[in-house]
Amino acid sequence: MSFQPSKRLQALPPYLFIEIDRRKREAIAAGKDVINLGVGDPDQPTPEFIRKRMVAALDDPRNHRYPFDEGVPEFRQQAASFMKQRFGVDVDWQSELITLIGSKEGLGHLPVAVVNPGDIVLVPQPGYPVYQAASILTGGVPYHMPLTEGNGWMPDLGAIPGDVAKKASLMFLNYPNNPTSACATPEFFAEAVAFAKANDIVIAQDEAYSELYFDQRPISILEVPGAKDVAIEFHSLSKTFNMTGWRLGWAVGNRDIVSALAKVKGNMDSGQFNAIQQAGQEALAHVDHVEVKGSLDVYRERRDVLVDGLGEIGFDVKNPEATFYVWAKCPKGLSSMDVAGRVLDEASVVLIPGIGFGEPGEGYVRAALTVGVERLAEAVRRMASIDW
Ligand SMILES: *Cc1c(COP(=O)(O)O)cnc(C)c1O
Repeated sequence: MSFQPSKRLQALPPYLFIEIDRRKREAIAAGKDVINLGVGDPDQPTPEFIRKRMVAALDDPRNHRYPFDEGVPEFRQQAASFMKQRFGVDVDWQSELITLIGSKEGLGHLPVAVVNPGDIVLVPQPGYPVYQAASILTGGVPYHMPLTEGNGWMPDLGAIPGDVAKKASLMFLNYPNNPTSACATPEFFAEAVAFAKANDIVIAQDEAYSELYFDQRPISILEVPGAKDVAIEFHSLSKTFNMTGWRLGWAVGNRDIVSALAKVKGNMDSGQFNAIQQAGQEALAHVDHVEVKGSLDVYRERRDVLVDGLGEIGFDVKNPEATFYVWAKCPKGLSSMDVAGRVLDEASVVLIPGIGFGEPGEGYVRAALTVGVERLAEAVRRMASIDW
């Protein structure tokens, strides 16, 4: 047999970070002291009170069996009460909320529940690659909604042609946004809900960074009246509690969409380890814990060092409102690949070229605030010594 991956797998766009990845590995192999601002993975540990709850949960033999189908009830109740306290949104934990094995899992499975082959999926770019990949793997056809500085990094829904909107069954949104760090306005979310209702489109809003903000608290799309008619929102414990490795999140919103996703999951996976969900319940019950709020102060200090430093070097850069990313416009009209390549070769600093998030990301680079403040200052010093 000569094996060929499926046509859908072959249809995935090429991985554009590959060139930077290769050069990063070469630099490390050559013994260079590489400062990696590429990865969006918190460097701080999961808070101790969460780890302690996990240890206790491990010792309970009831947790050693298959997980509950739609998630541990206590975790789902806690997530529902978080939705109420944090966003003022009422949700029925039994019919409108399910546990996910990380929000990426839910985002990846959602198109299986929503999209028919040939349907258009509205995908923001620059954007998290999962939206496009999951759509293609389901036989959907991505239609890119460009995010630009001019539109506040929110898609111009009026620019979507009528026939595209008619053929679309799903629209992905992500606020606070990776990679641009923008937050959505209530007006935009309301406009998106109206657009989705008018065109029979499901909205999947990725809310992974809702607790990672500096001043104003980000909103949920479910705060918009009537949003539950069309929207499902994806939440994650990964960034809020430094729990990326644990794989825990939830989906919440329209009950029919939530139950369709639950049905897909019931046929594909058997849920997340109950012990992890119990630890997650403990985490969500203490969103204001000093260990949790403390990480925000850490990111704030790092943000100031990096944003000020990049600004002095000649990048056009603003303070992020949320997320732990700094999205900076390249100096002197250089391309994002040029900048990422030069910074790697001449300063041993890894930045992600914006083009890797889709064509509209060109001209920008993304830096993650996931290294300590001394290392960030060192990265700035090295980048400043490049002859731009
Ligand atoms: C990190 C991240 C997530 C979180 O994924 P998990 O699977 O919950 O770890 C989701 N969306 C975006 C845009 C992210 O950057």
